[in-house]
Amino acid sequence: MSDMDRRTFIRISGFTAGALATAYSLGKFLPLLEEKHTPVVDPDGPPLLPGEDFYPTTCWVGTQNCGINVRRYNGRMIRLEGHIMHPQNSGKLCPKGQAQLIGAYDPFRVKAPLIRINEKGVQGRWREASWVEAITMVGYQIRTALDKDPKYVVWSKGRGREQPTFDEAFINTTGVTFLDQEGLTAGAGHRANDYTLGYNAGLMPDFRYCNYMISWGWDMLGSGGNKHCWLTHQQEFMGARERGMTVITLDPRLGGMGPHTDKWLHIRPGTDMAFFLGIANVLLEKGYIDNDYMVGYTNAPFLVKDDEQFLKVNGKEQVIDVSGEVRDFDDPHVVIQLEGEAEVDGTTYRTAFSMYRAHMKQYDPEWAEGITGIQATQIQAIGEELGFQAAIGSKLTIDPSKAKPCYAACHGDPFEGAGGGAEGEARDYVFRPVGIMADHVTQQEMGFQATRAAVQVFMLLGAIDAVGGVHSEFIRQTSDAFPKYDNINIREPPYDITLKESKYYPLNSANPSVVAQVVNSPNKFEVDYTPDVLIVRSSNDLIDAASQPDVIESYSKYKFIAVIDPWLNETADHYADVVLPSATLEEYDGPLDVGTMYTRAASLRLPAITPMYRSMMYPNIIINIAEAADVLYGEDGYINQLNQMLNLQSAFWLDVDAKPQVRTILSNWARSRGIEEGVRFFEENGITAENRPPPEIYSAPDDRTPNNVRHRFYGDSLARARDQMNSMGAGPGYWRDYTPLPTWRSLTFDDSPSEYDLVLIAYRKVQYQQSRATVFAHMNEIEPHQHLVMNTRTAEHKGIHEDDEVWIESHNSVTDETRRVKAKVQLVEGIEPNTVAMSHHYGAWVNDLGKDGGPTPNSLFFTGRGYSSNTADQSFHVKVKVKRAV
Ligand code: SF4
Repeated sequence: MSDMDRRTFIRISGFTAGALATAYSLGKFLPLLEEKHTPVVDPDGPPLLPGEDFYPTTCWVGTQNCGINVRRYNGRMIRLEGHIMHPQNSGKLCPKGQAQLIGAYDPFRVKAPLIRINEKGVQGRWREASWVEAITMVGYQIRTALDKDPKYVVWSKGRGREQPTFDEAFINTTGVTFLDQEGLTAGAGHRANDYTLGYNAGLMPDFRYCNYMISWGWDMLGSGGNKHCWLTHQQEFMGARERGMTVITLDPRLGGMGPHTDKWLHIRPGTDMAFFLGIANVLLEKGYIDNDYMVGYTNAPFLVKDDEQFLKVNGKEQVIDVSGEVRDFDDPHVVIQLEGEAEVDGTTYRTAFSMYRAHMKQYDPEWAEGITGIQATQIQAIGEELGFQAAIGSKLTIDPSKAKPCYAACHGDPFEGAGGGAEGEARDYVFRPVGIMADHVTQQEMGFQATRAAVQVFMLLGAIDAVGGVHSEFIRQTSDAFPKYDNINIREPPYDITLKESKYYPLNSANPSVVAQVVNSPNKFEVDYTPDVLIVRSSNDLIDAASQPDVIESYSKYKFIAVIDPWLNETADHYADVVLPSATLEEYDGPLDVGTMYTRAASLRLPAITPMYRSMMYPNIIINIAEAADVLYGEDGYINQLNQMLNLQSAFWLDVDAKPQVRTILSNWARSRGIEEGVRFFEENGITAENRPPPEIYSAPDDRTPNNVRHRFYGDSLARARDQMNSMGAGPGYWRDYTPLPTWRSLTFDDSPSEYDLVLIAYRKVQYQQSRATVFAHMNEIEPHQHLVMNTRTAEHKGIHEDDEVWIESHNSVTDETRRVKAKVQLVEGIEPNTVAMSHHYGAWVNDLGKDGGPTPNSLFFTGRGYSSNTADQSFHVKVKVKRAV
């Protein structure tokens, strides 16, 4: 087949004549596929056969955007191979990354826009519609709601790492309410890190240099860890293990860490804060404190008043000078003391660090054993090992010109122009080879303060952003929110449905489960409206969100719901008025940040074939919705928002009065970055990448924090927020954890009756991406059924055997509500005896592959007071009782 023949075949095979006519009637948004490219492929891979070629693109199903070379035969995708030069996946694809090929060709995809013809809340019945009709209907509903107030429209988006996204441009243009998955997945930890360090992310070690790592709730065989989906940290981790890195696993469930851990601490669920308080107690007792960092780069030396606020003179925090005098913290001549007390006008004040030391006296290892179930001797030993391994005071010289290029390190074959030595002079960096991995684990009752307690351990050691130490974002760049946390804004009611800046949850990440409760009972939270329109893109909160009954009830309150998804998921089936079938892998999307801690990289998602059936690329769907809602054009329109968010140079500015093609948008973005070939560059290379300069990653002895900001070791503004929440009438259940220092209290679920004797936790399986990959046949075949994972001895005690069917009943200790489901039992040794576990990824009922897989644990969890504390983020812990079903 000639080039021309193949090109013609691709275009015709991907579109029906009707689809073409419909699409063109909406405007010129159909992209043309480019044919000529020479992507970088694995020289050791299977050779191309006649009729085959490669087309580079980016994983659609995951969240880290791994690079893919699509092997095509006569215009059909026949195999997905990892892009060998991609910094995240280095030539590999994970199981679900591979299986998305089956998903793309899945005959059960939604093949055309659908409009509901029966009532909502039951299995949907549909008629096919043209794109014009469907988009016009969605646009009309949005426009009508916007005319009342943008708050009447809610935009819910599944996970992804596009930056910035086409969704965000729509949200910025219209001001509608945005929901994402952060509040379900890791929001408590992200809020805590952002508040404490200025990084809105989880925690990860510097695997290249770390010698001693705590794996806090990270099952490295099941999940990606902070900021990655899979593969990247796994490869980095194995390299570190080969170097000899020690691994301590802190998790009630051993899971995939089994062969990769030196010590397993099977902690009681929800008690992680107590463990880190115990470790900090040991560090303080043994004197493992990085004085330079604590004095120069944290607020720990500031003097504190009786009301737990900092003492200020003329607006400036006060510190103790070496002379014993009290001075402004930024006095050029002051030599700041970390600990001590001083008298001002007859009143004695202590430093925040002295308060911390006194506060921590109560949390010794024996106390921590009583809470966590981990032996005091082990806590003592790990505290001492951490302190010793941190090598406080040490430095490491890094010469970027001699550093191995990333690609040489990964493949022994440097990729010209993408890698090589980074810029910069040789210089000393702070060396603290102790780290921690933590992300989803922070979704526990006291996750915000547990994360602060963990971070404080590594702050004491001076390990934040150190070589070998603890990192959060890839780049040392303080978030915009960090200075704003000095004064946590709490407004007078009425509030919006996210309850942000409310007296209930002033700091939060819009957890969809809490939002559902607010939509169900707006008066209870002093919200004076119920939104009309919900747009759901690539998420399926009906089974992905905790407290499923609340979410189901809330969806019945919306007047209009549109779902944008390649599959008819549960949310669409029961509640969508309109379903808009988006493409999967076969679409343009981006720009995509595909960097790692060591590499800056960008990429695009490119369509190896035209969208299947009558599906449409997602960016085209949203551009068309924006047009139909009358927000696309003009200076205040969506196109101009893209101009700004993509930071396009004036020469590549999009005409704000002409509907753009997505390929043009992405090409203009690339050209604004100096990539003259535009999208063509990515069709040939897949990525643009270079090593990060060391100062972007590591702190130096005289540059410990970005712009010399002081990390928030002590949370004075938390105490202020607490007092304000209290005075505004929010109950103690809302404000009790707004303490300036992490403070242990008993757990809400421990108030459940004693018959609820086990704690249910949820965990992730590598083959699934929330519910998104359960419809991939190969993935579903691996483990098609849910199991309740139970300790062998616990089961024996209860007369339960492997594969027995059991009732699992959860109890809400605040409301006394109970919920129950049935599942089969799987017995393992590697779980704490009082803990049982269920995987997140079941409970589907629509797709033939996913249904009958058993229940989702989200039908057992609760949301609300006690189960969503402090920052409104979700706890995936609940007390349950388990009985054989007869
Ligand atoms: S790790 Fe994530 S992004 Fe990479 S191939 Fe797997 S699913 Fe795709």
